Amino acid sequence: MAKKLHLEILTPEARLISDEVEYVACPGILGQFGILGDHIPLLSALGVGRLDHRTGHKEGSFFVSGGFVEVRNNKVVVLAEVAEAAGEIDVERALWAKERAEESLYYAQTESDVERAQAALGRARTRLKIAGMSIK
Ligand code: ATP
Repeated sequence: MAKKLHLEILTPEARLISDEVEYVACPGILGQFGILGDHIPLLSALGVGRLDHRTGHKEGSFFVSGGFVEVRNNKVVVLAEVAEAAGEIDVERALWAKERAEESLYYAQTESDVERAQAALGRARTRLKIAGMSIK
């Protein structure tokens, strides 16, 4: 039987999960990485992306944006700036955020306008994908 990990996902507002799992895939700032039991100690910054966890046939996903993950002694602690369970993602809101970001990108005048709009677009697209929407 696979060794268990204790997964906690915390935001400044709430604890979203505190559970035993077998596998976690995290959106690190340098890309997605997987964590199984007996992983070496690790501290990584989080980017914007999808966090998946699995235990046998049970799976779950979260949207995560910014923060840190620490892996130590079979505990995975995610301190996220922003996170939502896949089922909590408000699709209408993300579609609206995507539209606004596309418009902001179109009218962007400065490099920082472009960066802000691209970041907002990235968050909206990622939320929509995690919510199971196929997007252009
Ligand atoms: P918006 O413009 O819709 O606020 P955003 O990407 O700027 O989107 P964030 O700064 O990432 O929003 O998050 C701000 C707060 O709003 C967080 O608490 C986050 O969980 C929540 N949030 C943002 N978008 C959604 C969504 N589509 N579904 C559920 N919660 C959301």
